[in-house]
Amino acid sequence: MPEAIATTKRKFYKALESLNTAPATRPGEPAAKRVRRSISTTSIASRTASTTKAPNAEYVVPRKPPNFSPWSHETFLARLRTFSNVSLWYPKPEAISEVEWAKRGWVCVGVSTVACKGGCEKRVVVSLDYERGSGAEVEGKGGGDADDETEGDSESLLETALVARYQSLIVDGHSATCPWRQAGCKNDIHHLQVVRPSIWQPELKKRYQSLRGLDGAIRDIDMTTLPHESATSLPAEKVLMHLPAELLSENDQTSKDAARALEVALHGWRGSHDSGNDLLQCDACFQRIGLWMYQPGYRQSQARSGESADDDSATLDLLELHRDHCPWRNAETQKASGTLSGLNASQILHRVVSAYAREQRRKSDELQKPARQSGAEGPDEEVDVEAPLSPAPSREEVEKQDKERESKLKRLKSLFSIKRRPAARSTVTAKSD
Ligand SMILES: [Zn+2]
Ligand SMILES: [Zn+2]
Repeated sequence: MPEAIATTKRKFYKALESLNTAPATRPGEPAAKRVRRSISTTSIASRTASTTKAPNAEYVVPRKPPNFSPWSHETFLARLRTFSNVSLWYPKPEAISEVEWAKRGWVCVGVSTVACKGGCEKRVVVSLDYERGSGAEVEGKGGGDADDETEGDSESLLETALVARYQSLIVDGHSATCPWRQAGCKNDIHHLQVVRPSIWQPELKKRYQSLRGLDGAIRDIDMTTLPHESATSLPAEKVLMHLPAELLSENDQTSKDAARALEVALHGWRGSHDSGNDLLQCDACFQRIGLWMYQPGYRQSQARSGESADDDSATLDLLELHRDHCPWRNAETQKASGTLSGLNASQILHRVVSAYAREQRRKSDELQKPARQSGAEGPDEEVDVEAPLSPAPSREEVEKQDKERESKLKRLKSLFSIKRRPAARSTVTAKSD
């Protein structure tokens, strides 16, 4: 019946229309609440996105973010992630590393191939394989002018020339009208928010709990951690003891396994389980570490089978195993400001969490022994003596404390030589896919 069909059609279009115009949020909810919720439930990744998008929330339907989003930490990380497949993307010189491509809107779409997906759709083959004479190739109109005049030059000259060429292609590889040609992400796009409690607390808890699932896999591993400068950063077992139990949902605050999991989490790692393997994973550089390689048993079997019994290589370096550009390891990419400048995200988080733990302990101490004299404190409590007694230290107070400690530490450091960390060996020990 034609009329029935017309009605069905009308209904269909009406439904379609309501789908297209559906508000991004539930009706009747105040705008402020929406914004707050979106901040608290999303990861650190969307810090910029959520604040930038807030005014447009009325018509933004929850779908894929726009292709051109240089302000968004979240879309930057999503692009960077596409480069983490080691069979598609090999490490490149810093100037043309995956970070530089991702900052300008590129994603990895094939072996050494990047594309402006969802944008101008240009593709660039990034090959430093000069021995076979392959140069830069831009697919699409205006591309394809591979230069072979550099053939015969010394390898380093060739590499320099190729790097320079790819460096300009990071910008010029986009079509003339592509917005990524005009602008890219700011240099601090990789910065991780680790100071605000509303961000570090849920994030740390998530990582910690995922690692508790791997207790058996990290229990016997030799780990290298950040040096614990007693003035600013407490060892994990001490932090754990003073953190409120509900922060990590930890019932046994003296558990050795729990302290180890917390230590690993404080260095930015989370635990995961993939095809029967226990892994550490980083959500900022997408490094994946197979924990089986660091088990004492694995080392012994390597030694027995005649492999080099380099005992040192079996140590899990929680800092060095992040990729070079990772803000958990690299203070340059973390780009912290003020008193925290020059520190990587691991160092900052250790300080922030230590300060928080000290404050929590002070609070509970005051509740238990209100009239206690400061002279009655135990021998290893000197860390806290000079900290303020305010109920909740402001950011300024924490920074002021840090400053004082830093200058003390500097004086101390000048008395001792500082041991250098061993060189990175992440390429040897990291297992990625
Ligand atoms: Zn483009
Ligand atoms: Zn990392």
